[in-house]
Amino acid sequence: MTIAVYPGTFDPFTNGHHDIVRRACGLFTQVIVAVAENARKAPLLPLAQRIALSTEVLSDVPGAKVVGFRTLLMDFVHQERAQVIVRGLRALSDFEYEFQMAGMNKRLDPAVETVFLTASERDSYLSASLVKEIAALGGDVTPFVHPAVKAALHEALCAT
Ligand code: ADP
Repeated sequence: MTIAVYPGTFDPFTNGHHDIVRRACGLFTQVIVAVAENARKAPLLPLAQRIALSTEVLSDVPGAKVVGFRTLLMDFVHQERAQVIVRGLRALSDFEYEFQMAGMNKRLDPAVETVFLTASERDSYLSASLVKEIAALGGDVTPFVHPAVKAALHEALCAT
């Protein structure tokens, strides 16, 4: 039984994130999508809403569970008795940061492995920040996010 944690800000949860979770569920017994508070990044959507949207979008993926966290990632991994951290890799630009994070997490607990899944070709240019930018400028984000996420983005952007 291998439990994997897929951490991120998920501001908002995109089709690229969904693809990673669906594929990770084929590899591990359970995949816990760990939604970080990440106040440093000043997310557009509050944590509770990011958790609710991720849960709704993942209702078609058995084996996935969504949990919020505000602690050190490795403490959360231990709390959930997980053995693996999953991250998605898009272009080369993701690599340096991801490599550094995986290295630091390895120092914190060498028994926990970080596993990278490469983005599907369709999603390799898709990022939550670009989706927010497109939505803020009145573009159509239908191809990139679930309809519930699109509605939440419009609501949040109208309020700002
Ligand atoms: P963070 O703030 O930790 O980078 P994100 O929510 O932006 O969190 O992303 C979470 C994880 O999903 C990261 O590993 C990121 O590289 C990956 N990811 C983001 N967008 C995509 C995508 N389109 N395809 C595959 N992986 C992605």
